[in-house]
Amino acid sequence: MADPITPVLTKRWLSPNSWRLSTYEQLEGYTALRKALSGTPEQLVQLVKDSGLRGRGGAGFPAGVKWSFMPPNVNGRTAKPHYLVINADEGEPGTCKDIPLMMADPHSLIEGCIIAAYAMRSHHCFIYVRGEALHPYRRLNAAVREAYRAGYLGKDILGSGFDLDITVHAGAGAYICGEETALLDSLEGRRGQPRLKPPFPAAAGLYAAPTTVNNVETIASVPFIVNGGADWFRKMGREKSPGPKIYSISGHVERPGQYEAPLGTTLRELLELCGGMKDGIPLKFWTPGGSSTPMFTAEHLDIPLDFEGAAEAGSMLGTTAVQVFNETVSVPWAVMKWTQFYEHESCGKCTPCREGTYWLAQILERMVDGRGTAEDIDTLLDVCDNILGRSFCALGDGAVSPITSGIKYFRDEFLALCESNKRELVGAQA
Ligand code: NAD
Ligand code: SF4
Repeated sequence: MADPITPVLTKRWLSPNSWRLSTYEQLEGYTALRKALSGTPEQLVQLVKDSGLRGRGGAGFPAGVKWSFMPPNVNGRTAKPHYLVINADEGEPGTCKDIPLMMADPHSLIEGCIIAAYAMRSHHCFIYVRGEALHPYRRLNAAVREAYRAGYLGKDILGSGFDLDITVHAGAGAYICGEETALLDSLEGRRGQPRLKPPFPAAAGLYAAPTTVNNVETIASVPFIVNGGADWFRKMGREKSPGPKIYSISGHVERPGQYEAPLGTTLRELLELCGGMKDGIPLKFWTPGGSSTPMFTAEHLDIPLDFEGAAEAGSMLGTTAVQVFNETVSVPWAVMKWTQFYEHESCGKCTPCREGTYWLAQILERMVDGRGTAEDIDTLLDVCDNILGRSFCALGDGAVSPITSGIKYFRDEFLALCESNKRELVGAQA
């Protein structure tokens, strides 16, 4: 069951007016910033490395290592401006952790931004918020204004000599702009499409200058690490995946929502936290980290949900968007809905993803409509094989995950649908 040290990231969420600076300051807010500014940037990078904090956007790249890629000072100055960009474009289906965090506790993100910017000698931070997320955009802007008025942002922050400006930027609602290089293109005013990597953003990012792109939850974790220390952070979670995590649980559970627990918590434990399966109807399948992560079944209830545990069991931790489906849901139907999403959001830059997601959606729609054949199942897998590892960015790989894992665990259901050609087999959803 959940480690007693949590909640950490969500501990202020239920306080009255938790988003206000006055509340934040009453609850230890900005104490980590004072502490951080009294040390050196190098000490901060080392602290974050020692904590083992891994990126919370989905890929789990070690945050301190990423920070250390930023070029060093030469004669006390950086050759080009350094940028910190916060990826708040949360768009992965089922993922709902960064938006609640920004709504409930925007100052934890802002304090984390200031500390991270100081560590990376950046004087301008951009927070790129998903276009549809109007309320978090407004709330963040209000919090940034409060922080400027209180001297936490702007020139000579708290008399330290360190200057930082934060710009909150709203995207235009394209899923691909959550991919870090497409996000940078979008921020520069271009159509958001992924760039070739390398160079990674630390070498050539925003305006071709050294840039670090971090997720909201990653950066909001930093003030807690500064105050609590690396060892305290490592007491939560597992050795290679330490710390607390916000799991967003949706679907057929009694109380969907955000649940904070240490990394490595299992679905069985999460179900206890959220009241179990809705109306007691048994679990059929679920995603550990959004639809881009291969699905699991009821056999996987005890998989530790951390980066290693999910991978060893054949999936990925992703965004910890746990989408839970009960026995009433048709797998081919759910897979078709996800595939339609990827087809719609494919940016069109590379052929395998642009053409492949179109054909995948066509075949699945035909199947669900009761016009599929058994050969269609192999055709689906063949198209997936031509997308996986052959696409320009992770969207293509993500698009095949629901299909390949759905057929792996529920091939009989796909076959029954094709052989009977009964549209009714997909149930009421269609
Ligand atoms: P990635 O592994 O390519 O990169 C992760 C991060 O590490 C990036 O910031 C990258 O620049 C950095 N990095 C990796 N190798 C590096 C190197 N050698 N040198 C310097 N920096 C390096 O993953 P990605 O394509 O950025 O992200 C894929 C993940 O995004 C998926 O796992 C998926 O779960 C997640 N995702 C999240 C959302 C969301 O809404 N949060 C949406 C879609 C996908
Ligand atoms: Fe665009 Fe898809 Fe290619 Fe990524 S994989 S570059 S989203 S077409």
